[in-house]
Amino acid sequence: MKYSEFVDIYEKLGATPKRLEKVSILAPFLRKLKEKGKPEWGYLFYGKVVADYDAREFGISRQLAFKAISSAFGINNDKVIAEFNKIGDLGEIAEKFADKRKQSALFSKALTVEKVFDNLRRVMDIEGKGAVDKKINLISELLASANGKEAKYIIRTLLNDLRIGVAEGVLRDSITEAFFEGKKEEMVVKIEEAYDLVNDFAIVFSAAAKGVKELEKIEIKVGTPMKVMLAVKVENVKEAFEAVGKPAAFEFKYDGFRLVINKKGNEVKLFTRRLDDVTAQFPDVVDAILKNVRGESFILDTEAVGFDRKSGKYMPFQAISQRIKRKYDIDKLIEKLPVEVNVFDVLYYDGENVMVKPYTERRKIIEKIIKNVPWKIRTSVQKVIGNEEEAEKFYHEALKVGEEGVMVKKLDAPYKQQRRVGYMVKLKPEVADLDLVIVGAEYGSGKRAGLLTSYIVACSDNGEFLEVGKVGSGLKEKENEGGTTYEEMSKLLKPLIIGKEGNAVKVSPKIVVSVTYQNIQKSPSYSSGYAMRFPRITHYRPDKKIDEIATLKDIEKDAKKGERK
Ligand code: AMP
Repeated sequence: MKYSEFVDIYEKLGATPKRLEKVSILAPFLRKLKEKGKPEWGYLFYGKVVADYDAREFGISRQLAFKAISSAFGINNDKVIAEFNKIGDLGEIAEKFADKRKQSALFSKALTVEKVFDNLRRVMDIEGKGAVDKKINLISELLASANGKEAKYIIRTLLNDLRIGVAEGVLRDSITEAFFEGKKEEMVVKIEEAYDLVNDFAIVFSAAAKGVKELEKIEIKVGTPMKVMLAVKVENVKEAFEAVGKPAAFEFKYDGFRLVINKKGNEVKLFTRRLDDVTAQFPDVVDAILKNVRGESFILDTEAVGFDRKSGKYMPFQAISQRIKRKYDIDKLIEKLPVEVNVFDVLYYDGENVMVKPYTERRKIIEKIIKNVPWKIRTSVQKVIGNEEEAEKFYHEALKVGEEGVMVKKLDAPYKQQRRVGYMVKLKPEVADLDLVIVGAEYGSGKRAGLLTSYIVACSDNGEFLEVGKVGSGLKEKENEGGTTYEEMSKLLKPLIIGKEGNAVKVSPKIVVSVTYQNIQKSPSYSSGYAMRFPRITHYRPDKKIDEIATLKDIEKDAKKGERK
């Protein structure tokens, strides 16, 4: 198959923002792709050459792309950089050079999808000595026989910037449209369920192409990441019961991070909610699982929570977040930032998919197979409650011992991935916005280069301004989205700049913004001694003067509310 056929589809997809149109472009193409017997080529539609969940990357920096383009078209590297500074889009630059190039013997052979897919795979997999040169060679080999448009998409793919607006939803709908035109409604759900289980376009696509029966055969697979069940937020106990029925299971809502634990034989694998494999970072959890959970194979849904060994108290997520990323000195980190695994669900047990069983049955399984060992592993604190008074009490008890709130689960519900409908809800205290003043900012990069796009915000304390965090989200990208844009904020701040260091500037405190956040925690990083977690600007407040902003006392009060004991 010629790569140009893919490129045509890319161009068409990129030209329309409409989902339905995208589906009608992709569906016929998927039928064609089916004939080729290469379902994995479909990965190219989301700019990859491996399954959706697979985190491997091409590892191509902008500098490396400059070099590949320069070597492929025989152009001086500085000239490529100069072009980039002018045009700002490497894909377009590659297109321009490829179009300009005289037709040569090389050109006579059309670029095939096989070749592109194969070289991209190799670019991804090459490691070690000489990797950079080998990557450049593989890329320039492709560019050498590419026409303009092909060159553009090869470069865009390598830079993870395909810009055709195809997300999982469009791919799923296109599969349905391609193979189940007659019974769409019913199949949309089936395909989504299959997708949630395996997170792999090629598997779902090739099963669907064979028919419903094959699709239904797709099963949960121990050892590969899968999407988890998510919760809808409710405002109070009454709403919780309305959503999941009465009685319901109330559980502590732990403030850690989601860990899906897979075990088969002696092999344990740990995945995050974003499907990243974090097994190597948590040998302590692997050990706890092997020693304290019975069963030959299983998948557990859990929350890993940090705690302080000395005080024996839980710690907020922020304190242990570095454990998720850190790949060295792991033993030291385990000592410093230990975690306890709180198991709240099971999806698979000894050869059986138990997602279809009611919650109460699944709970029985975890209670049976897990040996509770304090500060290592335990089943989540849970109580089946049938009246509001008792539910209130449980909720307050959870907050009192320092948990974030409670999760409330429907007793007879199966485990449903993703979907946020009445299976499980979360209840936690609402925290009001704080008005804060901007005292510093940082320049953005890429599309936002030249704009001040993240802001250091401060509260007041007897005429002094004390920093409480850095916030980079909440403003709008474009004017027509309503609300203040990054560009407008940047314009407001630039005349106020009073100091500069690298990428960061200090501004005189004039601009007030309302900021929302999940909670406030003690932190040595900011001059107030506190930091907001997940801050987001809700409004620019030209109506507020700086003597109206939140005080250090307000911050301390909010910090106490959510503080863990
Ligand atoms: P949120 O992140 O605010 O949407 O809340 C949902 C998250 O709470 C889940 O994704 C889990 O990571 C976490 N969580 C903590 N305790 C539990 C529990 N007992 N049951 C389910 N989820 C929990």
